[in-house]
Amino acid sequence: FFLAVEGGDGAGKSTQAEALAEWIRAKGHEVVVTREPGATALGKRLRSILLDVSSTGISDRAEALLYAADRAEHVDSVVRPALERGAIVITDRYIDSSVAYQGAGRDLAPTEIARISRWATGGLVPHLTVLLDIAPDAARERFTEAPDRLESEPAEFHDRVRRGFLTLAAADPSRYLVLDAAQEPETVTRLARHRLDQVLPL
Ligand code: C5P
Repeated sequence: FFLAVEGGDGAGKSTQAEALAEWIRAKGHEVVVTREPGATALGKRLRSILLDVSSTGISDRAEALLYAADRAEHVDSVVRPALERGAIVITDRYIDSSVAYQGAGRDLAPTEIARISRWATGGLVPHLTVLLDIAPDAARERFTEAPDRLESEPAEFHDRVRRGFLTLAAADPSRYLVLDAAQEPETVTRLARHRLDQVLPL
């Protein structure tokens, strides 16, 4: 079972991924929690290029391809092997992040970004995507570290990213759970568990 947790910066994705993993592990299943960008040796190098605030002037298409390269390596060396041995994989960000940031955010065609990611992943689609939706202003208040290159983008960029995620979810409601991430983290986890209870092969 492959679960993606998506949403803007500061939505609480890593907190929710860990909370859900702990709950599933307690039921006796192997869970692999992973993330993009940066889950592999190559991915760590790509991540540092992509997020360094001094990486100025990266073209939109080059940026999209670097995220796709990170994803290709991630799927090939982490996600697929784990799924093949029967583990439940929870990824903090996946294809939708590219469609939202490099597509809606940067103004490249979302369908083309999705196509590049489909090729990069050999067509691996999550069984369920939990979209943590929050207004960028509210999310920003949660930042604990200095903003990275993408977090430093203007508010309009993050508004487009948010709409990009919501558009994806609206197009395929049976494969998405959209949660209001401004709620208490415990409430968000409880709502996600409720949905997972119905779809997880446990
Ligand atoms: O979620 P995390 O903070 O690890 O993401 C790293 C950064 O990369 C974030 O600032 C996010 O906005 C950006 N990002 C992106 N496009 C993606 C994935 C992440 O711009 N496809």
